Amino acid sequence: METGKEFGLKIMEHLNDACKKWKAEEDIDYSVYGTPIEATTYKFAKCLKERFGVVKGVTDKNYITNSYHVPVFEEIDAFSKLKLESEFQRLSPGGAISYVETPNLQDNLDVVIELIKFIYDNIMYAELNTKSDYCQKCGYTGEILVDDNLEWYCPNCGNRDHNLLNVARRTCGYIGTNFWNKGRTQEIKERVLHIDNKEANK
Ligand SMILES: [Zn+2]
Repeated sequence: METGKEFGLKIMEHLNDACKKWKAEEDIDYSVYGTPIEATTYKFAKCLKERFGVVKGVTDKNYITNSYHVPVFEEIDAFSKLKLESEFQRLSPGGAISYVETPNLQDNLDVVIELIKFIYDNIMYAELNTKSDYCQKCGYTGEILVDDNLEWYCPNCGNRDHNLLNVARRTCGYIGTNFWNKGRTQEIKERVLHIDNKEANK
């Protein structure tokens, strides 16, 4: 991880240097922005695959990772993730956000407070992502899941009708509810929790 971090920071510094140069030359206030990359996550992944082929760990998925975020499938705890990304946020003065994925934390507010305090002390801007989905067919509340074909289904009754499923997920910087393209759906499916369930139910 250290090598990747050093390389990532170098890229960020390079981008900041370029902005500084353009600013001086053109008197326009350029700045580096941690893009949410929305549907581009899928489009860029397809273009990179076309150009470079399938490179293991780089272009072997339907999505690429937003800005300098730790990839969603990486096993890392919430505090380490926030600390690591904070070093990149300071090089993203045009805008930035970090996320941690959590299970349902409504019965463990101590963890929520601990996380928020950590965010306050360590990073400019971050949020917690939790699940609060609903199946209109059977009344299930919890997490609606994604199967191996990247289709959404209710784990309680098997309902797959998008019109009868309410799914809310952090998409980029906002919470989306209108379902997503294949790339984003795979990215959502592969998100690992940064606070485990044991911690949440303590
Ligand atoms: Zn259901």
